[in-house]
Amino acid sequence: MDFVEEPFTSDERERLQPHFTNLEGPVFALVDLPEVVKGALFARYSRSPKSLRRLFLDEFASEGTEGSRASVAVGTERAEQLYERVFFEYGDDSVAQLGGVHLAVEQVSQPLAKILEWGRLGAYLEQSTRYIPYDDRPGGRWRFTVPEEVETLPDLAVRYWATLDDAFETYARWLGPLQEHLRAQTPRDPSDSDVVYRLTIRAKACDALRGLLPAATRSNVGIFATAQSYEQLLLRMRASGLTEVREYADLMLVELRKVIPAFLTRVDLPDRGGAWTAYLRKTRAAVATTAEEALHAVVPEDRHEVTLTDFDPDGEVKVVAAALYAVSELPDDQLLDIARKMTADERARVLRAYVGERANRRHRPGRAFERTSYRFDVRCDYGSFRDLQRHRMLTIEWQALSPDHGYEVPSEVEAVGAADDWRGVMERSANLFRAMREAGLQVAAQYGVSMAYRIRFVMEMNAREAMHLIELRTTPQGHPVYRRVAQAMHRLIERQAGHHAIAEAMSFVDHSGGEAGRLEAERRSEARRRP
Ligand SMILES: Cc1cc2nc3c(=O)[nH]c(=O)nc-3n(C[C@H](O)[C@H](O)[C@H](O)COP(=O)(O)OP(=O)(O)OC[C@H]3O[C@@H](n4cnc5c(N)ncnc54)[C@H](O)[C@@H]3O)c2cc1C
Repeated sequence: MDFVEEPFTSDERERLQPHFTNLEGPVFALVDLPEVVKGALFARYSRSPKSLRRLFLDEFASEGTEGSRASVAVGTERAEQLYERVFFEYGDDSVAQLGGVHLAVEQVSQPLAKILEWGRLGAYLEQSTRYIPYDDRPGGRWRFTVPEEVETLPDLAVRYWATLDDAFETYARWLGPLQEHLRAQTPRDPSDSDVVYRLTIRAKACDALRGLLPAATRSNVGIFATAQSYEQLLLRMRASGLTEVREYADLMLVELRKVIPAFLTRVDLPDRGGAWTAYLRKTRAAVATTAEEALHAVVPEDRHEVTLTDFDPDGEVKVVAAALYAVSELPDDQLLDIARKMTADERARVLRAYVGERANRRHRPGRAFERTSYRFDVRCDYGSFRDLQRHRMLTIEWQALSPDHGYEVPSEVEAVGAADDWRGVMERSANLFRAMREAGLQVAAQYGVSMAYRIRFVMEMNAREAMHLIELRTTPQGHPVYRRVAQAMHRLIERQAGHHAIAEAMSFVDHSGGEAGRLEAERRSEARRRP
């Protein structure tokens, strides 16, 4: 390989060793350094001819204290000074994308979890309400949040506790009988291990019963994001109408400042982050007032579970033109003209070549598929919305959760004889919601709404993301409700948009009932676990 090896003295090598994974080659990772130093080192790339290792030696690692904590401390001080100049004074936001933190945010309600996972440029992992039974009581109470808005109204608080306790008790009471019922329905295949069988049955039962759980149900969320993503997240959280969200923003700021203090100087300064947060809060209030005036007498029309509300009839032709772009020398609009004049067969040939032989769903065609988009209006249960909301490469916006759109009753719940209990929980949840609204809790009223209630949200995505999302969310081990939503999206792309070739390219969409899928998934997991 052709590269210039940089010479370091033995003393320098000793100082570099703890922090650089390689001292000879042109590729190396930075380890055991504060985030701010890593970010500052990269930030210096733009204004210095030196290599990163040389910059470290010259500007961040002081001599005489090599390898010690003190050398890092000196480096940190310098890095923070650099930030103050580059980032804070000149507002160079890209520098704030160079430091990242893993942050654990535990015991958060579902509405808060959705706010934490709003940002596109972050990675999240969340405790599953599908794979973890919510039938234990850590600290002697069921796992749900009691928001401060409720706690300050004693009568309402009593009702809130009673309603949510009852929902969790109903869930815990049916978990055993439902698993028994499912075992009777699907006897164990002798070739399956006990573990595979038990996990399959339990997951199915959790899937069916999670609709009983309220939005206040707690979850743990792990986040890996850059300083800039955290800054944006905190600014949004501080503008929230929910006390829980604002309180968690304060906790997060304290912890993040222990790791990346320099990146987060603006968040709570009144004239910087404060003004930013105020802007978010004011515009949200203003648009709510405007909407109230413009829409107060309008009755919602009925819609299917999934409606394709916008698409480009010319979408496939544009994808064909885009597919040819990178391999030609022609202007974009000329290619579009050519694609329009092609016969359907000629266009299909281009698309077939572009899509190629997809051996699995991870083999995805390129950015030409980003040339056309679909906008779906969806109304499905909150539990499944929570899952679909996890996709980032799209635009998703949702309305407030309420009991107004009705609820789902899974067929397994009917079959095991739990439907009356289910309806009871739903009714009490709706009554609690109304009582909370009457008490003036407009936003916080969502906490008590069961996850089986439907919520309306919009998802707009290009064909490339649609391929990823629909193929992933129709895999047989997925939840039946979001599988149904994703299957409907696929049908609408094909039939309503008339994008037959794009729909056909999504060859890993699974339109089956999916019954055997979960078992298959557990078998695969077990095979992977085996040494
Ligand atoms: C059966 C099933 C079970 C699941 N169980 C859990 C669970 O227990 N807990 C849980 O938290 N989640 C769970 N998920 C959700 C899953 O982890 C993802 O959050 C979700 O699928 C959305 O993310 P994505 O990467 O698939 O797609 P999108 O966010 O839509 O992104 C599309 C693509 O963009 C790229 N991309 C997106 N973000 C990044 C990034 N930060 N860095 C690099 N590339 C990126 C990737 O190629 C990705 O595939 C489950 C999903 C399924 C289908």
